[in-house]
Amino acid sequence: MSDCIFCKIIRGDIPCAKVYENDKILAFDDINPMAPVHVIIIPKRHFSTLLDLDAENIDLAGDLIAAAQKVAEIKGIEGRGFRTVINCNAEGGQVVFHLHMHVLGGRKLSDELG
Ligand code: AMP
Ligand code: ZN
Repeated sequence: MSDCIFCKIIRGDIPCAKVYENDKILAFDDINPMAPVHVIIIPKRHFSTLLDLDAENIDLAGDLIAAAQKVAEIKGIEGRGFRTVINCNAEGGQVVFHLHMHVLGGRKLSDELG
């Protein structure tokens, strides 16, 4: 989508600090990190929210998880632990409407989920 900020990052119209990439997925540092490690993982294909994944493309959820494993290894936090989050729609706290997974780590995260 032409006006989607994450699609612009995929196209290279907006720079990012790339952490990991494959044919389906791009991962980059969050511009406003909430933890020492805060990485955003996005599918290269635009989906507004996780509700837009259907039977045909639900495998992308596994691709996001596999990318989170890679990101945790690359950032060296897989042993200490980390958290993955997908916000969905307004009350879920979603601000950017291109499906994405947060990977947070590098400090003890709050027990409170929200
Ligand atoms: P969410 O609230 O789940 O929609 O999260 C959107 C995330 O995208 C926030 O943590 C933002 O800091 C992050 N973000 C927004 N614009 C950029 C950008 N240009 N580069 C990296 N991260 C961004
Ligand atoms: Zn997009």
